[in-house]
Amino acid sequence: MTELASTNALRATMDAYYRSLADAALRKTAPVAWCTSAGPVELLRALGFAVHFPENHAAMMGAARTASRYLPLAHAQGYSQDICSYLTSDIGAYLAGESPLKAYGLERAPAPDVLVFNTNQCRDVRDWFEWYGRELHVPVVGVHSPRSIDDVTESDIDSVTRQLESLVAPLEQVAGTRLDDARLMAAMRASRDAARLWGTCLGTASARPAPLTFFDGSIHMGPAVVLRGSDDAPAYYRTLLAELEQRVENRVAAVPGETLRLYWDGMPVWGRLRALSTMFAEFHTAVVASTYCNSWAFADLDPAEPWRSVARASLELFIARSEAPKERYIARMVKFYDVDGVIFHDCRTCPNNSNTRYGMPGRITERLGIPTLVLDGDVNDLRCFSDEQARTNIEGFVEQLTDARGATSARGSR
Ligand code: SF4
Repeated sequence: MTELASTNALRATMDAYYRSLADAALRKTAPVAWCTSAGPVELLRALGFAVHFPENHAAMMGAARTASRYLPLAHAQGYSQDICSYLTSDIGAYLAGESPLKAYGLERAPAPDVLVFNTNQCRDVRDWFEWYGRELHVPVVGVHSPRSIDDVTESDIDSVTRQLESLVAPLEQVAGTRLDDARLMAAMRASRDAARLWGTCLGTASARPAPLTFFDGSIHMGPAVVLRGSDDAPAYYRTLLAELEQRVENRVAAVPGETLRLYWDGMPVWGRLRALSTMFAEFHTAVVASTYCNSWAFADLDPAEPWRSVARASLELFIARSEAPKERYIARMVKFYDVDGVIFHDCRTCPNNSNTRYGMPGRITERLGIPTLVLDGDVNDLRCFSDEQARTNIEGFVEQLTDARGATSARGSR
């Protein structure tokens, strides 16, 4: 695997973000809001909040493999082993009085002044935030979004738009300031620019060989998640894009000797990101793209129409859609990235972002004539992931794809 030089700039960008969050919490330089990953962060930034993302906090614990220490503490509170392991690791860490943000001076996640959710991704985020609302006596507000949407309708957009607008007054009250239209437009512009640049970065993986993989993308998407609405995000993605374009021009492969190309659907297995990346590279297989990383490429945000465009983007998100538009989306991705197969991660505690349970892998194979593999695992709970089983399954899949490719080229040379 070839590490991207931009990783240094990424670390500096993320460090600066975590330090500013710690400053807000410890030195009261700004009010603190917690927000779900696809929540209305532009509004929060325009009101001057420092914004913490519990999903990012939980992913840090997953990547550091500390989540398993915290899960039982939340289970003991009556939060099932079957529900979101982001939720249970985050609440468990709070109960243990620990945080991966300790390196930035925070013993726990930064104390919130308000919690803001959007249920477009799942109900768990609301349950998660309401736990903290009760524990910390902090207001919880949010958007109750429709899910499993076929075509996004004007009435869906109207409903979410009205809900977003109704958040302004309570959030102004917590922030102690009035919403300034110019600040909202600036946050929207920064979000749109970051999303477009991020989408373009991901799109470079359509080149052969691909200059980045899904595993790189899962790390480099950090600013697209936690710095949406801030100019630091587009600044970082300009640096990353320049490096990726250079790689494409010089044919520098993320996976040296790239032979097979795959698409990943579903959540990452954070505690095995490096191990999986190494394993695929060993098989000269590049996992070139994913639904997950592309979920933060909201290209259609419009500063001139902030409420409706945020509403539309949150409704059009892959995770909020029904099976038919999801399948159409994957079909487009398979074609665009020209992949040999699709891996579906069946994330044990996240049915919301697992597309394996209602026959989709079989339908994708039938419709596109492309092999699929279902990999059992979890986003944070490593008890649901077996290294041996994953290796056996991936190795078998790679062999199957290699044989299929050999048969195609033999037919072609006859
Ligand atoms: S989408 Fe899945 S992983 Fe994300 S918060 Fe919801 S249940 Fe958890």
